[in-house]
Amino acid sequence: MNSDASELGRCPECGERIPETWLLIQYETSDGKTRIWAECPACETVVSPE
Ligand SMILES: [Zn+2]
Repeated sequence: MNSDASELGRCPECGERIPETWLLIQYETSDGKTRIWAECPACETVVSPE
């Protein structure tokens, strides 16, 4: 396991991988799912990683 392998997902705008360190907000929805918002390092947009 590499510590630098942790990522949140991919940017829906440009497809870039978003590292865990770019996480902005993490919250739970009313149906118990965890949603996150992060800033994409490539296009500098706040997105919900996929
Ligand atoms: Zn992006």
